[in-house]
Amino acid sequence: MAGQELIRLEKVSKTYLMGEVTVAALQETSVTIYQGELLVILGPSGSGKSTMLNLIGGMDKPTAGKIIYRDRDLSQAHDRELTSYRRQDVGFVFQFYNLIPDLTATENVALAADLVENPLPVAQVMEDVGLGDRKEHFPAQLSGGEQQRVAIARAIVKRPELLLCDEPTGALDYQTGKIVLNFLYQIRRQGESTVIIVTHNTAIARMADRVFRMRSGQISEVVANPNPLSPERIDW
Ligand code: ADP
Repeated sequence: MAGQELIRLEKVSKTYLMGEVTVAALQETSVTIYQGELLVILGPSGSGKSTMLNLIGGMDKPTAGKIIYRDRDLSQAHDRELTSYRRQDVGFVFQFYNLIPDLTATENVALAADLVENPLPVAQVMEDVGLGDRKEHFPAQLSGGEQQRVAIARAIVKRPELLLCDEPTGALDYQTGKIVLNFLYQIRRQGESTVIIVTHNTAIARMADRVFRMRSGQISEVVANPNPLSPERIDW
């Protein structure tokens, strides 16, 4: 595996208390993620994929165990440190885009660019995701695929070390989903960010460098893929 260690989970557990019942969303999980890889986290609904992504993204803290990002221990970090980590180091892409409805596409992206010291040029990123002619549109005036491309632009404009995508094609039709996956695949090829995609779609795993298969709050299998395929060559 090329690339240096970027983030390491050491016996990480996350439990939620639901009334009287404890839900073990993630159980004693130890794994390493490498710089520059495209990782797919695969598993059925409820297997702990989003929990793991949220912990890696500093949106939540583990109940037990350590999460080491470079030389920082995120599991011990204060809220301010975690906020700074999310702003500076992480880009998020969600299933339902989460754009700000009363800002234009460009304004949504510019808002994210303002969070960091050294962003990519906003206009350039809009071109890169194929939205050069949709810059002044509001989210409601854009298709689902276009909105997701704005969300990707918003994430990558920060030049994040980590790009975290939770079911990024979950709300899109087949063709549009492929276009969105293609952008993520290209980002990995350009080597700027480590890309993690959470999905329940097994076909998507074929574009990954590595796949974590999850079952019942644990990684049941780690598979390295020596020949990742471009999304154009994957059918499902
Ligand atoms: P996946 O992303 O694979 O669908 P999740 O990580 O969302 O799985 O959920 C794993 C388990 O943890 C599920 O049983 C889910 O109901 C539970 N869970 C997730 N988030 C919460 C929460 N905030 N409160 C209570 N239970 C939760």
